[in-house]
Amino acid sequence: MTTTTDVSAVPNFIRYIVAEDVANKKNDGRVMTRFPPEPNGYLHIGHAKSICLNFGLAAEFGGICNFRFDDTNPTKEEVEYVESIMADVHWLGFDWGDRLYYASDYFEQLYRYAVQLIEMGKAYVCSLDADAIREYRGTLTQPGKESPYRNRTVEENLDLFQRMRAGEFEDGTQVLRAKIDMASPNLNMRDPVLYRIRKTPPHHRTGGTWCIYPMYDFAHGLSDSIEGITHSICTMEYEDHRPLYDWFLDVLGVFHPQQIEFARLNMSHTVLSKRKLLKLVNEKYVRGWDDPRMPTLAGFRRRGFTPESIRTFCERIGVGKKESLVDYALLEYCLREDLNKRASRVMGVLRPLRVVIENYPEGQVEELDAINNPEDPSMGARKVPFSRALYIERDDFMEDPPKKFYRLAPGREVRLRYAYFITCVGVVRDEKTGEIIELRCTYDPATRGGGAPDGRQVKATLHWVSAEHAVDAEVRLYDHLFLAENPGDVKDDEDFRKHLNPNSLEVLTSCKLEPSLRDAAPGNPYQFERQGYFCADTVDSTRESLVFNRTTTLRDTWAKVSKSGNKK
Ligand code: ATP
Ligand code: MG
Repeated sequence: MTTTTDVSAVPNFIRYIVAEDVANKKNDGRVMTRFPPEPNGYLHIGHAKSICLNFGLAAEFGGICNFRFDDTNPTKEEVEYVESIMADVHWLGFDWGDRLYYASDYFEQLYRYAVQLIEMGKAYVCSLDADAIREYRGTLTQPGKESPYRNRTVEENLDLFQRMRAGEFEDGTQVLRAKIDMASPNLNMRDPVLYRIRKTPPHHRTGGTWCIYPMYDFAHGLSDSIEGITHSICTMEYEDHRPLYDWFLDVLGVFHPQQIEFARLNMSHTVLSKRKLLKLVNEKYVRGWDDPRMPTLAGFRRRGFTPESIRTFCERIGVGKKESLVDYALLEYCLREDLNKRASRVMGVLRPLRVVIENYPEGQVEELDAINNPEDPSMGARKVPFSRALYIERDDFMEDPPKKFYRLAPGREVRLRYAYFITCVGVVRDEKTGEIIELRCTYDPATRGGGAPDGRQVKATLHWVSAEHAVDAEVRLYDHLFLAENPGDVKDDEDFRKHLNPNSLEVLTSCKLEPSLRDAAPGNPYQFERQGYFCADTVDSTRESLVFNRTTTLRDTWAKVSKSGNKK
């Protein structure tokens, strides 16, 4: 698999197909797409690609995008998922208006289509069990065998199918199958199952009304047809299902949407499969579907990603037919580009070291001017309090600095952002451990605002927070959820969980933030100067007990990636 790191937009081949269809007045020039999630998990960033594509094409060509829950399997589907999916699509910035549909609303219609197939001699009730059906199906190199029930009469099939619906049979004892070709080189065409019996659990919408449920292949194309979808866009796994998709529509003689397949999104250092993500949730490797390390939209939102950055990412990765692994760094690149424009700059000290400025008057407080965003003057300015005792970042000081370390050290002068030049004149140690617990410094009052009248220069500018005014916070730092570059690709018998990053979450509990952050609205983006982009956690943060997530660092991997060039 190739790795995509290119930031220039990749073309979207489906856009050309749709444009040509519109130009040729196919379907009277009408464009109707749909986004069809199954409510069996939360949406992940792969789904975002599909959402942007389907809603994007409809918007671009003056068409419509339906939002349809593909809820044909009661065993895995839940209302919680329905609700989260709707919230996530809205958050991403798309609106389906009144075009919300459920495949389960078509159960009666789909049942009638099935009856029609039976009447045409194109479907039969098969009483083989699941194992036998699998065995009879054959393999890629061997043709299948016909079921002994294949030649039941139409009357017998109608009777049995009606009794399946009426609940006379137990799960797994009967299925309805299409009568196509057991010798077809395409396994999907070897008399695929159309309906199976599932007596429990109740369906999230139809309750106990039905005990037979249509299979995906049967339900999906016909739902598309019922809605009048023109372009039914799905991922490459369904390419081999297209003959079957077409078969149902042709045999029944109903409106025929065009199925078009594209390569699903794979992203480095994460997995994009609801099944695997559900495992991480159930087995508590993460704190839930919206854990900020999860590649779900709920996770990204909680971590502080903006919908704009995800949409830009989806635009830039393009749409093709070849599977590739998109570098997570590309998403972060899009994110930084966006946050740089909208995030207020603030100061927050993550690992504090106390500094006392010996020649600064005891009890004096100055309110210094700080600008909120150099990229956007309309975001204004604020006052930051300065006083005799401050916190700086522990690793901005070294007692015995190596050559290239330009920050604070004994005898060294540095600038405090928006404030003064300070010089370190001594250290205070813990009597027992010998650890440095405080720095003694002096300041030069003439350098207020950050410049020296005599023109002398310093090599570093540090962020800081006034000790007496600081607000305490917990800060959560995140790293890749998986160490492996492509954990989704590990062989089936190899456990993808082995590749989890044990250090994907680091919690810092005694961080000191500038006082303006007391009122940070959860989810609102901030740039902590020199530390990255952060937001107050929408779930755990309160005014009394602040919790911040680091959304992303200021730069990093992307710089490395772009320098080493496109790995493709
Ligand atoms: P998963 O494999 O994670 O369970 P799915 O395809 O089963 O995904 P659905 O709810 O059926 O999940 O997906 C809804 C739509 O999103 C489908 O049209 C599907 O093709 C698309 N989709 C799902 N995963 C991706 C992906 N990784 N990249 C692009 N599109 C995707
Ligand atoms: Mg699916």
